[in-house]
Amino acid sequence: MYGGLPYGGIEVICGPMFSGKSEELIRRLRLSIIARQRVQIFKPSIDDRYADDEVVSHSDLRLAAHPLSNSDQLLPRLRNRTAVVGLDETQFFDEGIVEVVESLANRGLRVIVAGLDLDYRGRPFHPMPAIMALAETVQKNQAVCMVCGAGASRSQRLAGYSGSQVEVGSSERYEARCRRHFEPEEELQLSFLRTRDSILKVPTKLPSPAVKPPSD
Ligand code: ADP
Ligand code: MG
Repeated sequence: MYGGLPYGGIEVICGPMFSGKSEELIRRLRLSIIARQRVQIFKPSIDDRYADDEVVSHSDLRLAAHPLSNSDQLLPRLRNRTAVVGLDETQFFDEGIVEVVESLANRGLRVIVAGLDLDYRGRPFHPMPAIMALAETVQKNQAVCMVCGAGASRSQRLAGYSGSQVEVGSSERYEARCRRHFEPEEELQLSFLRTRDSILKVPTKLPSPAVKPPSD
């Protein structure tokens, strides 16, 4: 049974870092556990920030989870009587997870998917957009902007640049920001280069060669 109906479905919980996605995932799964539904939780093993075999929120709520290195590993680990499947940090799964989630819902399971909708550049974080499109419900959480206190929809990376979309880290590397105070990485890089060049007095244009007086 899903939401009182005899078929499955997909629920997405998305938003930036610190917006309570894992808290909300754990809350929904705990209610299912209280109702004696069989629950299984999966997460990509790339996310080893706090614990390999647990989903952990920034406020330290925890639930046991199976770490997977690939979306192909999910279906073989699914138990017969599982009614509810939870996924955390879903943005770090490969694209194959979209089909897996859809097939679980088509089999009658309730699938709760938590993940970042945007990366640190403020761009859609695949495979979340495809799962959001297929889902029955999508909840977009906001955190609190660390600059002005408004609702925060973006994850600001604070230092360092690897050029990779996959960068696992927490409060020492990221903070929540609103649209107005979010500075995408490219802009940070440019402003760093401009500041460096002005300190080093690197000319932005090459000086024109000295004009020699014509010799008679
Ligand atoms: P997510 O999974 O979305 O990253 P979590 O569920 O792990 O979020 O953590 C949410 C918790 O993070 C909040 O309840 C709060 O205790 C903490 N937190 C830290 N920084 C912020 C912030 N800027 N805005 C809101 N909550 C924050
Ligand atoms: Mg989380």
